[in-house]
Amino acid sequence: MERTEQGEIRVRCLILRRVAYKENSAMVTALSPSGLFGFAARGVNKLNSKNLAPTNELSLSSLVFLSSSQGKLTLKEGKLEESLLPENDDLEAFGISSFLLESTLRFLSEDSDSADCEAIFDSLLANLRSLKTGDSAYLAGTRFLSVLLKVAGIAPEVNRCVRCGARNGIAGISKLDGGFVCLNCLTPSDERKPVAFLKDFRTAILAPEALGEEHIRDLFLFTADFLVVASGVHLKSLDMLKRF
Ligand SMILES: [Zn+2]
Repeated sequence: MERTEQGEIRVRCLILRRVAYKENSAMVTALSPSGLFGFAARGVNKLNSKNLAPTNELSLSSLVFLSSSQGKLTLKEGKLEESLLPENDDLEAFGISSFLLESTLRFLSEDSDSADCEAIFDSLLANLRSLKTGDSAYLAGTRFLSVLLKVAGIAPEVNRCVRCGARNGIAGISKLDGGFVCLNCLTPSDERKPVAFLKDFRTAILAPEALGEEHIRDLFLFTADFLVVASGVHLKSLDMLKRF
């Protein structure tokens, strides 16, 4: 955020949510590299409003605000820099972008650490752009999950067994205990997995840019489930993606 000479606040941000209220207005939630914030956008739902496009969900916008003495932000003007809406017929890209927005809104708050907000902002922007170009939607989703799991403080242990610390003989994953489990420690409540899957899961967490498209849907759904089980946060957009 940057303060202009007129005492206004200028900020480049991604629009995460817009909820209509009163006659033609909306409450908007946006993410800038320094934080999550909400603001009122008056008259924005009138069809001829010049601020309609820059406050659309999935817009990257440059916005100018008036700030009240209590710090409440009111939108003065906005400029759309880039629309990150996927192409109309790409259902998977739509599903994954909904997942990216919903999980950001659930795991970040206005009190979140600015380093976390910057990491999520950068990953959101990069992966929403990649969804627009028609790259594998599940690859974009998995790359985002790798960042989100760290920010949420529940990145899985993928170097050793979460129970005994063994580095060898890894045979499965415990979502509840948060990572790899070795054959000696494996119980029926853990998920036994082939070595190839365990390797891919480790790559998804530590170096997701190295992932290929093979089995990527399974890997994405497993990693997203890990997030849900480890955090206890339910995500509606994930239910939808499982039905595709
Ligand atoms: Zn063990």
